[in-house]
Amino acid sequence: MTVHEKLGIYQIRLPLPFRLNHVNCYGIKGSEGWWLIDTGLNTEPTRQAWQQFMADQGITNRDVRAIYITHFHADHFGAAGWLQGLTGAPVFISAKDGETVQKLWQTNNARTLQAETQEAITKMFIAYGMPAEMTEDITGQMGTLASAMQPFPVISTVEAGSMVQLGDYRYRALFTPGHSDGHICYFNEEFGVLLSGDHLLPKITSNISLWPYAHPDPLNNYLQTLQDNLRLPVQLALPAHGSPFANVQERIHQLLDHHADRLKLMKKLAAGGATAYSICKQAFGENLNAHEVRFALAETAAHLMHLVYRGEMEVTERKGVSIFSEKNKTGGF
Ligand SMILES: [Zn+2]
Repeated sequence: MTVHEKLGIYQIRLPLPFRLNHVNCYGIKGSEGWWLIDTGLNTEPTRQAWQQFMADQGITNRDVRAIYITHFHADHFGAAGWLQGLTGAPVFISAKDGETVQKLWQTNNARTLQAETQEAITKMFIAYGMPAEMTEDITGQMGTLASAMQPFPVISTVEAGSMVQLGDYRYRALFTPGHSDGHICYFNEEFGVLLSGDHLLPKITSNISLWPYAHPDPLNNYLQTLQDNLRLPVQLALPAHGSPFANVQERIHQLLDHHADRLKLMKKLAAGGATAYSICKQAFGENLNAHEVRFALAETAAHLMHLVYRGEMEVTERKGVSIFSEKNKTGGF
């Protein structure tokens, strides 16, 4: 589907086996070939969808000039290696996300994470107060997801702030950390078109979560980036989930309000002292599968740690489990 005629941008909607059932990738047509943004998971339905798109548009493997990945998450990076194998195109990602994807998701062993990564994730979720057997479900499920991200491509890095050619036009590689530490949006300043990845989404809020190998306060990065983005002259955002949208400033304000509300709620729920896991269940409900609880809990932890860094809450450790509580306001003068 064409989403911007003049810039030659096509949207490719790929299926995902989750409640969030699709990811939008983009193909950009230029006089010297095609450029791709994001790739989907390396699954049979994804491979078929890419091949169908290429057949429909008359794209040969050699026409693909480069593949740009907005960030390292499975549904964006997953099929990059397969597409590189097919086309020989370079795969660009930020240096930070290139490093993280290798630590977190690269594996030689079908359906298991690297031992060190599995251990780091288990330890993190135990510290959040999650029952041990549930951490096994999560690392098992992540192992399955990892298998849909292999083989890995040879990675090239794109420098934050640099200008890159996509189709016949130039775009700024806009550093937008928060959803991931090295997230990049691509912005065509002339037309005000922003390929927003998962940084700005029209309906759902981007998951902001605390992970091993990641920044200790990702929510601070995200809120800061949103404030900076209020000055961006965006006419149209092309997101990785949902439909293209034009009300970008309004959406940024909604997102800032959303996180302010969530911070208030988390602070209230933790007031008397609680684990991230018990706060997560109260904030997100009990009815979550392993995939969903992983996101919900890491998001809860990101909010709680942001409150700790802001000096509004404190965290103490009891037998390897972190207890969050409101900072004692009565101490001092
Ligand atoms: Zn993502």
